[in-house]
Amino acid sequence: MNNRQDVENVIIIGSGPAGHTAAIYTARAELNPLMFEGFMAWGVAAGGQLTTTTEVENFPGFPEPIQGPELMMRMRQQSQRYGTRIETKTVNKVDFSNFPYKVRAEGESEPRQAKAVIIATWATAKRLWIPGEKEFWQRWISACAVCDWGLPMFRNQPLVVVGWGDTAAEEASYLSKFGSKVYMLVRRDQMRASKAMQKRVMNNPKIEILRNTEAKEAIWDDTWLKGVKIVNNKTGEERVLEARGLFYAIGHKPNTDFLEWQVLLDESWYIITKPWTPFVYRWPALWNTEAKDDAILKWVFAAGDVQDKKYRQAITAAWSGAMAGIDAEHYLAGLED
Ligand SMILES: Cc1cc2nc3c(=O)[nH]c(=O)nc-3n(C[C@H](O)[C@H](O)[C@H](O)COP(=O)(O)OP(=O)(O)OC[C@H]3O[C@@H](n4cnc5c(N)ncnc54)[C@H](O)[C@@H]3O)c2cc1C
Repeated sequence: MNNRQDVENVIIIGSGPAGHTAAIYTARAELNPLMFEGFMAWGVAAGGQLTTTTEVENFPGFPEPIQGPELMMRMRQQSQRYGTRIETKTVNKVDFSNFPYKVRAEGESEPRQAKAVIIATWATAKRLWIPGEKEFWQRWISACAVCDWGLPMFRNQPLVVVGWGDTAAEEASYLSKFGSKVYMLVRRDQMRASKAMQKRVMNNPKIEILRNTEAKEAIWDDTWLKGVKIVNNKTGEERVLEARGLFYAIGHKPNTDFLEWQVLLDESWYIITKPWTPFVYRWPALWNTEAKDDAILKWVFAAGDVQDKKYRQAITAAWSGAMAGIDAEHYLAGLED
């Protein structure tokens, strides 16, 4: 049966916790949503970042840890159960200049049309791509200390954090609760973290800050991370730090290229939403806090990591997906306020 409609009520782009929560809400509101879940979009399977991890211990409702891929499979089943239509395609173009909006998926010559679009396309962690990283990524090398800090393999072990901003300082603090020692590798002679965060890590006896220092190689002993080869970029001196975990906190790249500047992005390419709402602004519009309500791009919403540079958790992605689903329903029902 061909389920296609001439104009879809809602198209959801992205299939992580944000996309699926938006799908569950809009499907239960009988909007018959269409989701493009992506086909290995930016190298990650449909279902998003949690498909790349093992145990998730902090998503409510699961007193025992649940495997990331299983959690995402359950969300997908829940979306479908209430009527979400899912296509395994990656969206590579949108056109918000005229209503109804247009959304084109890879391999399709004609765009689909929609009255409302929910963008939930995540942000990808930046990596260093040093030798040894590829083989052990997501095992002893992680870009999410908040997610992995409590795992038994990191307890009472020396750990290394790479980064110089607030996130790195926060991750080093988290890790110091369980790790025996935490090294922070700071590329420059100064950190970029706020003064308060710098003070916090400098006063922590378990954290040692190594300035002008970069990670060069992850070193393995059969299946374990044994150490991290580091280099002082001023003197060229190299040495190996004993370590059982390596954590990157060097930023994320939101997947917003396909939007081609039709919605307002910040200086790091995250979508700017009106605070505490999923509403996005037309591009060009005034930056950030000055953005005005009359610049809101109606019927386009953003949810999840693509608009959240701070929390980046499954539950916060689901939270914003719920808001996007509810607001899409309100707008489509003509209840604009
Ligand atoms: C290794 C790892 C472990 C983590 N562990 C935890 C944890 O234990 N607990 C926790 O709360 N959080 C954890 N997180 C963070 C959590 O995964 C994210 O915060 C959450 O998945 C963000 O949800 P999202 O819906 O915004 O995006 P994602 O879950 O990343 O999903 C977006 C997905 O949409 C699809 N997509 C992207 N672009 C397009 C496109 N153009 N067209 C169609 N589809 C597209 C892709 O399949 C993409 O993967 C972890 C993250 C990582 C990387």
